[in-house]
Amino acid sequence: MMSITNILLSVDIYEKTIQILREYGNELLEALVLWVGIESNNVFNIKEVWFPNQANSPISYYVTDIDVHLINVKLNQKKYSAIAQIHTHPGSAYHSNIDDQYPIMVLPGSFSIVIPELGKISVQKNLNAMVVYRLIFGDWILQDRKEVNEIFKIE
Ligand SMILES: [Zn+2]
Repeated sequence: MMSITNILLSVDIYEKTIQILREYGNELLEALVLWVGIESNNVFNIKEVWFPNQANSPISYYVTDIDVHLINVKLNQKKYSAIAQIHTHPGSAYHSNIDDQYPIMVLPGSFSIVIPELGKISVQKNLNAMVVYRLIFGDWILQDRKEVNEIFKIE
């Protein structure tokens, strides 16, 4: 994942992502989805948004180890990899201590995206309403808006 310099995201998958997260947000629950797809020549093409089995609360989500394992089995079957986890927060968006310590994504270069206001954001041709972190040498590093706009291509 570390070598990936461009990520292609369709408006369709973007909208579906927000739609899933808002369904939970409307119930005042956090939720998590994954963006999965195929890497080729340092370009990652997001093919699908996945909603893993999870427990949801107003201030957290939880995916069991077994369900993380099942995600990996499914990724293998479809010859996909996961590029990003995306989850909502009730208020502002940031990576909490729990987000740092218990990510679903563990491969260097993976992304973790946090969406504020339980997903009640407008879909634009960018990720500016969100915060985007990347796993670099074991730490989740906040990516600045310019970097994010260079990496994620929404079309
Ligand atoms: Zn969080």
